[in-house]
Amino acid sequence: MLDTRELGRRPGSQREVSRTVPAPADLGIEVLHVPEGAPVELDLRLEAVMEGVLVTGSARAGLEGECVRCLEPISDDVEVTFQELFLYPDHRISDEEDDDVSTLEDDLLDLEPLLRDAVVLALPFQPVCEDDCPGLCPDCGARLADDPDHTHDAAIDPRWAGLAGLDLGSAPGE
Ligand SMILES: [Zn+2]
Ligand SMILES: [Zn+2]
Repeated sequence: MLDTRELGRRPGSQREVSRTVPAPADLGIEVLHVPEGAPVELDLRLEAVMEGVLVTGSARAGLEGECVRCLEPISDDVEVTFQELFLYPDHRISDEEDDDVSTLEDDLLDLEPLLRDAVVLALPFQPVCEDDCPGLCPDCGARLADDPDHTHDAAIDPRWAGLAGLDLGSAPGE
């Protein structure tokens, strides 16, 4: 929440705000997100216009997640930019039609939905540790990037793996 009272309502007045806020829960996607409470650096410009306050800004934060192919932990960072007009409550046309419109409440503006949308849009849907991550061995689950050349002597169909130890028909000592 950001207080806009200092800005006043005179169209054209501007204020720059830089602050670091703790990340809200669920900022990002399951496989790649900003840990709750981690610092999010905000640089904002607030500009009073006729209908409300125009917010233009950027946010930077660290990300944690895991590679969707090999499950290795990933750390990365994200920088997003956003712009949104927050209307004064008395400039809302109707409550029903304006559900998608951001509104100031008691001179406070809530950046969280804006930040959340911007971060989610900026993230890859399928984060990987490296672009060419080969993933996991389908036979043993080893991480192939660590051990790219390992092989398995006989690829055993898992349906028959239980029978592999049985000696079917051949005489002992043969
Ligand atoms: Zn990987
Ligand atoms: Zn393997």
